[in-house]
Amino acid sequence: MRRFGHDLVELPLSAGGPSVVYGKIPDCPAGTVFKNRREAYDAGVHRTTQAGIAGQAEGTQSVCLSDGYSDDEIQGDLITYTGFGGRDANTGRHIADQKLEQGNLGLVENYKLGRPVRVLVKESVLTGRRADTEYIYLGLFVVAGWSWGMRDGFKVLVYQLRAVAGDSITADETAETLTRGEETPTQRRSSTVNRIVRNYEVAASVKRLYDNTCQICSTRLETAAGPYSEGAHIRPLGIPHNGPDTLDNILCLCPNCHVLLDGHALTVQPDGTVLKRGEPAGTLTVSTAHNLNFSNLAYQLEISTGVSNLGRGGVDST
Ligand SMILES: [Zn+2]
Repeated sequence: MRRFGHDLVELPLSAGGPSVVYGKIPDCPAGTVFKNRREAYDAGVHRTTQAGIAGQAEGTQSVCLSDGYSDDEIQGDLITYTGFGGRDANTGRHIADQKLEQGNLGLVENYKLGRPVRVLVKESVLTGRRADTEYIYLGLFVVAGWSWGMRDGFKVLVYQLRAVAGDSITADETAETLTRGEETPTQRRSSTVNRIVRNYEVAASVKRLYDNTCQICSTRLETAAGPYSEGAHIRPLGIPHNGPDTLDNILCLCPNCHVLLDGHALTVQPDGTVLKRGEPAGTLTVSTAHNLNFSNLAYQLEISTGVSNLGRGGVDST
């Protein structure tokens, strides 16, 4: 293990800042334990000894969950991670809106590219024991979704991270192992525990219901292999949203509108009015046979704008 025979050497930062490396670190498998943040820095896992996010607007290389913040949530192969900024350094309370910039924006870039982010977690986050001060590298996670949330009355960015099978250990399996006092697993033992299992029949039925025609823009794509559409969950599956995988929470959309919905550019008002970046852009087509749950659309509107931002319009891009 790296924690043995490892000299702590202060490495000078190069003029261009910390080196930017995405994805796997050679000789550092998921499950590697570090004595402290400095060791994880030196190994190249998380190239900052203070910040929770190592990243820039162009992309984020790694995040670290430490017990100072209680917002983060772990369930199966999913982690909810809250962005940086807006906190009082002393109390940890939110005193300003977070912004979609620097490493926060970088995580959205990772989402768009499907580029994984390394996840480091303080042992105490997993075990709940404050005395557990080591850091565990959980491996690679993809950014499965992002949204706005509210904390103490201020907007925060909320990311859903999903463990990459084969390149990660799941947080809750690791927590159980550590709590039993055993060594951490160095590879995933199971990929079926607490995973989101999608019911593809539900998506198939919404596509049948609308004959693969987009409920927002009425596009019906015809490929060489027949018509194509996507089943889009309105309230996202998994923590922190926990939307249901049921017909009343799914829209039949074209790929463009699906990307815009998940990217929070499209929202739907309770009366069915579709807003594109806050501006009216048509009406949602709803079949009488489709019992849509409009409270899920209200939820999607909320996580797309942040409650405090209603009326100010969409994403803050400063
Ligand atoms: Zn469309």
